[in-house]
Amino acid sequence: MGKNNQAKRKLKKQKKVAKERRDVGRRQLRVIGKRPCDGCTVCCSVLGVVPLDKPPWVSCEHLCKEGCGIYETRPDICGKFNCLWQCGLGEMEDRPDKIGVVFAPSNGVVPFTGEEEIQAYEARPGALQGPRAMKIAKRLAKGGALVIALPHETTGTFRFMGPKEKVLKAEINAQLAQKRAAELAKPTEP
Ligand code: SF4
Ligand code: SF4
Repeated sequence: MGKNNQAKRKLKKQKKVAKERRDVGRRQLRVIGKRPCDGCTVCCSVLGVVPLDKPPWVSCEHLCKEGCGIYETRPDICGKFNCLWQCGLGEMEDRPDKIGVVFAPSNGVVPFTGEEEIQAYEARPGALQGPRAMKIAKRLAKGGALVIALPHETTGTFRFMGPKEKVLKAEINAQLAQKRAAELAKPTEP
């Protein structure tokens, strides 16, 4: 009986901690107004744009000094994209071109955990190790989100930050996804 009560109390406490983490995460991701990109064009270089066949880490051919050269007819996906800084995450000094990292909701191509996932694209090598970027990543991870770190100019290499159980799940799913991709890349028998 005593053991049962202890187990119930433990479960209740775990649920409370999980809820607090979720709430912190939600508060951190709360859209508190749209900031103008102003001089930043980082996402046009680091993110892949499928309708344009633009791979990640390659500057978009339509990017010019003034910004997007095809602004009126740019793909929908470009018009709808908001990085988390633009949505209010971090300070003004944390703009992606300044810290060298774009934090954005996961595009879900690989569902690592199927829950709240945030991609952190490095625009410059090692930028995620910078104090401001790392502070944001740690804050998000502490809030319960899975942060998927995408090192500069690498594809298929993921580093994870977040709650231990989510990181573990994500690592397993990343390995499975890599295995599947390798199998698909194998030449088929004639
Ligand atoms: S990275 Fe964010 S702030 Fe920079 S151009 Fe893209 S949406 Fe705007
Ligand atoms: S089409 Fe325009 S908005 Fe889209 S990636 Fe290229 S430059 Fe950026």
